[in-house]
Amino acid sequence: MKMDDLIVVTGAGGFIAGALTRYFHDKGFTQIRAVDKKPLPEWYQQVPGVEALCLDLSERDTCVRACEGAVEVYNLAADMGGMGFIEHFRVECLRSILITANLIEAAYRAGVERYFFSSSACAYNTELQKEPQARALKESDAYPAMAERGYGWEKLMSEIFCQEYWAERGMKTFIARFHNVYGPFGTWDGGREKAPAAICRKVIEAKDSGKHEIVIWGDGTATRSFMYIDDCVQGIDMIMHCDDLIATPINLGSSELLSINNLVSLVEEIAGVKLQRRYDPGAPRGVAGRNSDNTLIKRTLNWEPLTPVRQGLKTTYAWIEQQYAARKAGKHARS
Ligand code: NAD
Repeated sequence: MKMDDLIVVTGAGGFIAGALTRYFHDKGFTQIRAVDKKPLPEWYQQVPGVEALCLDLSERDTCVRACEGAVEVYNLAADMGGMGFIEHFRVECLRSILITANLIEAAYRAGVERYFFSSSACAYNTELQKEPQARALKESDAYPAMAERGYGWEKLMSEIFCQEYWAERGMKTFIARFHNVYGPFGTWDGGREKAPAAICRKVIEAKDSGKHEIVIWGDGTATRSFMYIDDCVQGIDMIMHCDDLIATPINLGSSELLSINNLVSLVEEIAGVKLQRRYDPGAPRGVAGRNSDNTLIKRTLNWEPLTPVRQGLKTTYAWIEQQYAARKAGKHARS
């Protein structure tokens, strides 16, 4: 890629695409177009020198506008959130297929050289994730398909779009299945937040209120792996520029498995508190166990996400604490 080739990042007002925009900017790329349907003041990050457009990409014409002149397109726009959101708003999740259908066609017509899609571990067969100690998921485990209702099926179908735009039309497409991503500049309140941010916020609230207890969704035994945002953006870049991975879904996740109880303990340690745990068995909890099998990424890229969760959580906790304090003081906070 030339340093002045136009890179388009969608969903850039959100968590991961915001960090990706900053990553390319810091690498020295001079032509970056960031797109999101959120009004600009609500974006987590606005990177100086980057063209920022507020467009709803579920429509054809806005996708055409977004892709004008683009050499690479990174599609991270989606209506999504943690389990609380994806279990309750399945229709909204499914409707993200409109972004895929319109954006990939616009990218193809614009002559884009490479197209990236952010898929999810929720595309995997849920039958394989019924135990906390379920074996790590390898890429072939998406089929036979029994994805997460709503959100997971949309991801699987969008992957198929990418595969067919390569097979039938020759556009180079790349597909990463993200496993939980966390870090600063992401959702930490409001209903769309995922477990690491939600737990950091609850611990901060408990400390602040002096009421030393925490409500944990489920029974705390569910397991997941958590990838730090810096690993995620580096992985996206590496996957997008590896021709061995054209139209090939690949796990992009940490393989350090933790239970939700372990995650709470880590955040307690960072915060220097010990809280009374109350469990809410009726709350959304997702599958019982999920981890990333990193055999393929290690083989093809000689790399895998390795930031220890303890280290990544420290910066995440500090950022959320700052946002919490700002909001409490009546200042603008990004939640
Ligand atoms: P996010 O909610 O922070 O960002 C998504 C952004 O997309 C939001 O800012 C939203 O406004 C925007 N968007 C939604 N609909 C749009 C539309 N019609 N037009 C334009 N913009 C629109 O989420 P994130 O965590 O940054 O996730 C980015 C991508 O990665 C998503 O595709 C998500 O499904 C995928 N993913 C994330 C995780 C994770 O742990 N965060 C895990 C697996 C997959």
